[in-house]
Parts: sequence; C-alpha cells; structure tokens
Amino acid sequence: MQTGATSTIAAEFVTSPATMKIETLAVHAGHQIDPATGAVSAPIHLSTTFERDVEGTYARGFMYARNNNPNRQALEEGISTIEGGVAAAAFASGTGATGAVFEALAPGDHVLAHVDAYYGTTRLLREIFLRWGLKADFIDMSDLGAVKKALRPNTKIAWMETPSNPLLKIVDLAAIAKTAHEAGALCVCDNTWAPILQRPFDLGMDFIMHSTTKYFGGHCDVLGGIIVAKKDGELFQRIRNIQYEGGAVPSPFDCWLILRGMRTLPWRMRAHSENAAKVAQFLAQHRKVEGVHYPGLTKHPGHEIAKKQMSMFGGMLSFEVTGGRDAAMKVSTSTKIFTRATSLGGVESLIEHRASIEGPGTQSPEGLLRLSIGLENADDLIEDLDQALG
Ligand code: PLP
Repeated sequence: MQTGATSTIAAEFVTSPATMKIETLAVHAGHQIDPATGAVSAPIHLSTTFERDVEGTYARGFMYARNNNPNRQALEEGISTIEGGVAAAAFASGTGATGAVFEALAPGDHVLAHVDAYYGTTRLLREIFLRWGLKADFIDMSDLGAVKKALRPNTKIAWMETPSNPLLKIVDLAAIAKTAHEAGALCVCDNTWAPILQRPFDLGMDFIMHSTTKYFGGHCDVLGGIIVAKKDGELFQRIRNIQYEGGAVPSPFDCWLILRGMRTLPWRMRAHSENAAKVAQFLAQHRKVEGVHYPGLTKHPGHEIAKKQMSMFGGMLSFEVTGGRDAAMKVSTSTKIFTRATSLGGVESLIEHRASIEGPGTQSPEGLLRLSIGLENADDLIEDLDQALG
C-alpha cells in the first residue's frame, strides 16, 4: 500500500508540471517508485527483448530495446517535462540527435544555421548532409537582418545555438522565431549550454536539442543527445522513426546516468553560473587579457537580449590572451586546477585552446581560450588563472 501511495504522488508531479517549480520537476520528472520492488532509485533494465502476451501483443509497452526500453522512456519523459515539450527522442550522442533532425528533411530542403554553432554541427552539415542533397547557409544569427535575407522559400529549419560556441554570441530567439515562422521554417535551438536557464519553447522554438553529454550528465562520464518537440507533428514522427530504424540509441545505463544527472541540474546550473560570473569579472580587468566573451558582462554586445531570455548567464566563457596563440598555449599549460581538455558541463573546470581542437577552417581566434567553469570554489579558480596568466 505504502509503495502504491508513493508512486501515485510521483506520478502526480509529472502529470501537473505547470504547477511545479523547476527544482521539484528536475527531481521527480521521469521518476517513480519501482512498482515491483519499491526501489527509490530506478532499476536499470538491460534486457534487449520483452515478453509477448499470449494474444501476440505487447501490452506492457516494450518489445525490443532499440525501439524502446524503460530507462530511455523515463529519460525522454523527464527531459520533455522539464523543457515543457510533449515528446522527446533520445540518441547515443548530441551529434546523433542533431543528425536525426537533418535526416528527417528531404533532399533539396534548405537549413539556415548559425555561423558560430558547435563546429561538429557545421561539419555534419557540410561534410555529410550537403552530399545527400540538403542545402545549407551559415550566417551570424545574432544579426536579424542577415537572417531575413538568408531565408528562402525552401528553408525548412533555422538552427540556432545560444550562447554560441566558442564566441558566446547571443541569438534573439523570439525575434528569429517570428521571422523564420513567417517564412514557413521551423526553429530548432541547441540548448546545450543553457539548460534550465533558457526556455526555448516559451520563446517560440519548435524543437530543442541537447547534447546531454554536457550539463545533463554533468560529470563527464556519459555520452548522449536528445530532441524535444513542442508539438508532436510530422517532423517529430520522422525523427522518432529515424531513432527506431536508424538505431543510434543510448544504452539503458547511459539513460539512467543522464536522468540521474538531471535531478541536480537546476542547482548545478546556478552554481556554474555564479562561479563563471566571478571568473569573467576577474578576467575582464586582467592586464594580460584582451577581451572576455561572457553574456553576463554588461559590455557584451548580446547582454540585453541575454538578460531578457536567460535567468542566469551560464557556466561557459571564453577569453583572448594578449600575445596570441603562443601566449594562450602557455596559459593553458600552466593551470593547476583547470584541466586541459575539451567538452564542458562537468563538475571540474576545463580549459582549451579552441582553434587547435577545431583544426583547419576554425573561426576561433588564435589567442582564444574556452573555459568550462566547474563547481570548485571560484576563488581557487581565479587564483589558478591569475598564476597561469603570470
Ligand atoms: N552542441 C553543442 C553546443 C556542443 O557543445 C556539443 C559538443 O561539444 C554538441 C552539440 C555535440 O554533442 P556530442 O559531443 O554529445 O555529440
């Protein structure tokens, strides 16, 4: 009886998300007490296949693990609930999720993408999808006029990322959504850098993409991606089909880890943001720093829009070291707390020279270092950067 009562309460949380604060939703969405055992932490279902009923149906909802499994279903429900969507499709990586959106389009369709989007997204479009007949243009989406000019009658998707990577440009999501919708295009926001802090569906986006490898996982130990839909329409059904038929699905353990990460996400995002704001302030007044890219700084060109569409400014920033590439490399090899590594969103702070990781064709300035600010004490991070800058 006790178990049943507790399960019902958990179920009510996810069926009335509109009344829940985000911290409460993050803890409860996608979770319920295991009806079979009473386990508070959900079991991991490793089974690849599920029993068929005598009449040949699958009344319990699961048939084969590529199509669906309980951990993936819980993850999709959880993330969809906290983003305010109606459905979600989880993939084995953020890039797998991005690719599914482009695969769902038809040859000849046009995609408008942010020039400062994650370089892997740009490469995916350029190196794989252009060869398969998609058309694409890469423009600075922080310039609304440029977006208006670049939209075509066959533009099916406007792909946004804000704050962008690695220059932290801010895209005005509401303004672009209005313009793109008038031109008949759907809008996707890669919300990887600002989960919880930014609510893309409230700003007119049709789909949200996350590399759940980053803040959702939160500990640099799991790879994943997800597409969340505001409405369950034709494009989302094609994405769902690509998930089933294409098979680039996350393992049950990966889903379990990502959903576990989500439970602390609102609190972590707050701490990441508070730390990053302090580090940005410190760097902005340092004599060996030429510029800091952080939307929380009042001098940042996108600050006013960021203030409108973000509750806090996130844990990512980049800065340009006086002296260019050699000076930047020297700083990145001199830190003691920051680890020299790519990726972001974990509890530990990371530093990276973006131009060298992106390679030929990079748009990143040679003196630029990108920081993923972790959950250490900001004073220690500042001291570490201070000694590394010399
Ligand atoms: N989108 C953004 C903004 C990213 O930062 C990344 C990875 O760094 C991705 C997408 C790709 O995600 P994944 O590495 O999980 O494929």
